[in-house]
Amino acid sequence: MYEMQIGEAAAGSGPVWHVVARDHRATLCGRPLQPGGNAETDRHCAPCMTAFQYVMQQASTE
Ligand SMILES: [Zn+2]
Repeated sequence: MYEMQIGEAAAGSGPVWHVVARDHRATLCGRPLQPGGNAETDRHCAPCMTAFQYVMQQASTE
């Protein structure tokens, strides 16, 4: 299972939405999460999106 969580951007500044694997409690891009953050953003973490697409493709071909 995966969920979206706001965290610090992997590159640049400001918050972005990261993809988090629930069973690992880590973002797909490797950035630590900001616990308890109340930031809001419309931006998504590009490395997380790329990694998420990859794992979804792997899942669909198995
Ligand atoms: Zn990320």
